[in-house]
Amino acid sequence: MSAVPADVPGSQAWFDRARGVTPGGVNSPVRAFAAVGGTPRFMASGAGAWLTDVDGNSYVDLVCSWGPMLLGHAHPEVIEAVTRAIARGTSYGTPTTTEVELAAEIVGRTPIDKVRLVSSGTEATMSAIRLARGFTGRDLVVKFAGCYHGHVDSLLASAGSGLATLGVSSTPGVPASAAAQTIVLPYNDRAAVEAAFAEHGDAIACLITEASPGNMGVVPPEPGFNAFLAEICHRHGALFVSDEVMTGFRVSRSGQWGTDGAVEGWTPDLMTFGKVMGGGFPAAAFGGRSDVMALLSPEGPVYQAGTLSGNPVATAAGLATLRLADESVYAQVDDVAATISKESSAALTEAGVPHVLQSNGNMFSIFFGDLPPVRDYATAQTQDVAGFKAFFHAMLDAGVYLPPSAYEAWFVSSAHDDRAVQQVLDALPAAATAAAR
Ligand code: PLP
Repeated sequence: MSAVPADVPGSQAWFDRARGVTPGGVNSPVRAFAAVGGTPRFMASGAGAWLTDVDGNSYVDLVCSWGPMLLGHAHPEVIEAVTRAIARGTSYGTPTTTEVELAAEIVGRTPIDKVRLVSSGTEATMSAIRLARGFTGRDLVVKFAGCYHGHVDSLLASAGSGLATLGVSSTPGVPASAAAQTIVLPYNDRAAVEAAFAEHGDAIACLITEASPGNMGVVPPEPGFNAFLAEICHRHGALFVSDEVMTGFRVSRSGQWGTDGAVEGWTPDLMTFGKVMGGGFPAAAFGGRSDVMALLSPEGPVYQAGTLSGNPVATAAGLATLRLADESVYAQVDDVAATISKESSAALTEAGVPHVLQSNGNMFSIFFGDLPPVRDYATAQTQDVAGFKAFFHAMLDAGVYLPPSAYEAWFVSSAHDDRAVQQVLDALPAAATAAAR
């Protein structure tokens, strides 16, 4: 296993071939390395904290599939659960016992009464919005600039993640009528929220927010912000939708709510989940108050369905992952995240590179440049993307796979052991020097 990739002819050949058959050569834009340049690595396998590309180069993975791999790649007990499930068939289109167990696990860890399983985070937020509109009989949706909720038409305005990476504020293909139903506000800005509700309060179906944003880099809510959002929604008869697709079951066993609402005493009306709860398979969910969820088909009139929803293999992977994710897993993940984030910041300081480290539990990111603390998307957009790019490539050359975008959170897993962490620490000084340019 070579640690330092000198060359990637295999990845380059596959990328060339991929571009002939798939737009941009990838099935999700950020994978194309558009923001950092160079050859996207085509991965052949993952084990624990490590990814190996088609050229045989190995990398410490700080992307973790953009969050899902809380336990690392190919965790033996998850693989065993998946293998057992696959041997019994891959999809029946009927109810199964594993779906019920996964739903119970999710309901047991969160304040929601009922949950519906779907296949992607996008489906979860799309369905939650439909349900909120059906429940309230209103159309408007409030979201925050820099928050990404998947590629739902009405939620793509000023979204983070890939749109931030590619510098697009909205996308062709979204009807003006869909965009007109969305009010976009600056994050962490109470006055803007108050003003929007004062003007449109009786027409707002819901406010959706990332429970703690990670799609414009990590920009945590200021203390009490989520409680404020819950309260203003309730005051105006709107639903508060907390999107925990990224934070759910990652920042704690009860997600962001476990360290926020559970402490402050508020609950969202609807929540969305994905990533960790699918254990690396396409599984996601939305859920909430029983009177709201009662409107969902077949109990109520709001339609929602899915051929592969609650898929037996995906739910087996998710259930195994959640059951394995005990307090010791979160302690280990928090510990590794603290070490890597602090050491990265120290190396940059040592090299004289101005930056801002921001974290929320075990999720963190570094904004390069001379910035104030980043509390909203407008500030995140003033970061020095070129500095990040130089740092990214030096880390990649040293066998560390960072998110190929300055606007993404870095993720670690409980499989990031001392050897993996050491490889990251060893790579830092040269990468920090590269970023100093
Ligand atoms: N919501 C949040 C907070 C996300 O981070 C994402 C994906 O990154 C989504 C929704 C969409 O999930 P998916 O990519 O599974 O459609």
